[in-house]
Amino acid sequence: MIKEIVTDLEALAKPAVPATAEDEQIGQDLLDTMASIEDGCVCLAANQIGSDKAIIAYEDEDEQRHVMFNPRIKQATQPFKATENCLSISKESTVTRFNVIKVSFEELEDGKLVRKEKRFTEWVAECIQHAIDHTKGRLV
Ligand SMILES: [Zn+2]
Repeated sequence: MIKEIVTDLEALAKPAVPATAEDEQIGQDLLDTMASIEDGCVCLAANQIGSDKAIIAYEDEDEQRHVMFNPRIKQATQPFKATENCLSISKESTVTRFNVIKVSFEELEDGKLVRKEKRFTEWVAECIQHAIDHTKGRLV
């Protein structure tokens, strides 16, 4: 279901709570909402669509969209300064990001959450870092 993007900074500043296998619909809502936004919406966190669960969605190099449950960054190298926009905030800001990251996350398989690890680079890595920040209530 397509949701409205949350812009209330107080709501966005709350850290997310762990997601469970019952939160499948929130993952789907993230994908639906992303698909409805034109113009470079490459990542979205659940609190941006009004859920307090630690779930994010991102778009990869091949424009395929994926959902991650309870993501955390395990390794990060090659820091750089990035200027980012956020769908929820109107102004740009500059943050330190890492060009290469390893992320531990969960994915739904047959109704169960299975933990996985994946390495990301460049802008996909940057987007995922931005979305994981959202799950911590941190805004760029
Ligand atoms: Zn954002």
